[in-house]
Amino acid sequence: MTIHATVSADILARLKEAAGPGGSIEGAETEPYTVSWRDNWTGKTPLVLRPDTTARVAEIVKICAATGTPIVPQGGNTGLTGGGQPRPVGNEIVLCTTRMKAVREIDELNDTITVDAGVTLVEVQNLAAEAGRYFPLSLAAEGTCQIGGNLATNAGGVQVLRYGNARALCLGLEVVTADGEVWDGLRGLRKDNAGYDMKQVFIGSEGTLGIITAATLRLFPRPVDRGVALVAVPSPAAAVELLARLRGSLGELLSAFELIHENCFHFAAATMGHADPLPGAGWRVLIQADGPDGDPSLTGRVETALGSLLEEGLITDAVIATSGAQAAALWRIREDQAEVQQKTGAGIKHDVSVPVSAIDAFVTEADAALDARYPGVRHCTFGHAGDGNLHYNPIGPADWTGAAWKAETDAVNRIVHDIVLKHRGSITAEHGVGRLRREELTRARSAVELKLMRAMKAALDPRGILNPGKVLPD
Ligand code: FAD
Repeated sequence: MTIHATVSADILARLKEAAGPGGSIEGAETEPYTVSWRDNWTGKTPLVLRPDTTARVAEIVKICAATGTPIVPQGGNTGLTGGGQPRPVGNEIVLCTTRMKAVREIDELNDTITVDAGVTLVEVQNLAAEAGRYFPLSLAAEGTCQIGGNLATNAGGVQVLRYGNARALCLGLEVVTADGEVWDGLRGLRKDNAGYDMKQVFIGSEGTLGIITAATLRLFPRPVDRGVALVAVPSPAAAVELLARLRGSLGELLSAFELIHENCFHFAAATMGHADPLPGAGWRVLIQADGPDGDPSLTGRVETALGSLLEEGLITDAVIATSGAQAAALWRIREDQAEVQQKTGAGIKHDVSVPVSAIDAFVTEADAALDARYPGVRHCTFGHAGDGNLHYNPIGPADWTGAAWKAETDAVNRIVHDIVLKHRGSITAEHGVGRLRREELTRARSAVELKLMRAMKAALDPRGILNPGKVLPD
């Protein structure tokens, strides 16, 4: 199938009709759909389609398949790797799920919710709460990102430690295939070994294998008690030991464990006025425990657990939130980090994972390598240490321009990712490959693994119309 460099007026007219009334956008109004959240990825498109039903998505894909028209699926457009924007070539249609908002079913006894792809993450959280249940996927973009996008990226966030990532929270999917067929896999089953698990193929495939149109998601009992604390530790090694100890004392109640470099607090104070709760401390860990009501309360249990560790010297200081407002203030410093770092200076971002046991070695080696090559480099590492996932985002020395630091991106990536790979880690833990890490995938994955990935792409999207130029290297 030939992919044409432009899309003819006839094809555009057919696509607009398939999208239905109010389902298409052209001209200058397409601009927000072509620029990424960090505005570091841009492109152009002749047409943004916003169908409101699965049937319309299928009809659109059938036309694209028959005419060789590439499609870029898009949800809330909060992705950080350039996967959801069209490329500059100008022949790619954007198919955005924003108008797909149906809540198909809440099955309280099965603890599941089935929603269309365009329902936002926060809307799913609220629907679960209204039903007296809990949907634990949580990330700073939750007001805008959509369930389809969350599953397409296998989103992680701050509670993976306890509940798993988007993949673990999904029991069933509905997908429009690259032929325009609808696969109804909306099964709310916790056990199902009837052949290959097709949903797992589409989850995390970043729109390159099929278009997710609906999902059946797991719900959990609503935690009614919560304990939150910010703890100072002498090193990442102490943080990892702390994690093991807290898992011992709090068990599965421990729901979040975020390691944060001290600079993150200094920058948060300087750029957004967030007071530092532990002035003078080095590395910090933000801890959360969630669970049922009990006596002692979770705040009390967290305090007891930390008290003995303070005496031992594993932690050097701690602030325990005694109100919801205090807990929210501690979390705000963590959640605002993306904005804080943007305001502080140009950063070279990395979303890496290593085995939890290798966190200290990774941070120590990467910091030392960058300090040696770029004296004065400003470290502001933070992230989901409980999952071995760190956002390692060094900002250039204070006397460097942002442009000069950005010019070092390839060199810095090489240094950081080589250390990640040495520790058998991943160069993208939760954000995905998109356009950002596509070429680096060649070094991060073996020839055998890439061959298997290409075979999957060829089998499921033989015409190459779904999100071309994303994920797989040329
Ligand atoms: P989009 O950005 O629209 O798309 C992302 C990818 O999925 C693209 O490749 C797109 O083509 C594909 N896609 C979208 N919808 C579909 C569909 N229906 N079918 C098939 N493919 C589709 N991510 C984390 O994992 N953890 C975090 O903690 C986190 N924090 C963030 C904080 C901020 C401030 C921001 C801006 C982003 C953060 N992200 C995080 C990244 C982002 O929010 C997630 O990747 C999110 O899951 C993307 O959802 P979306 O609806 O915005 O998808």
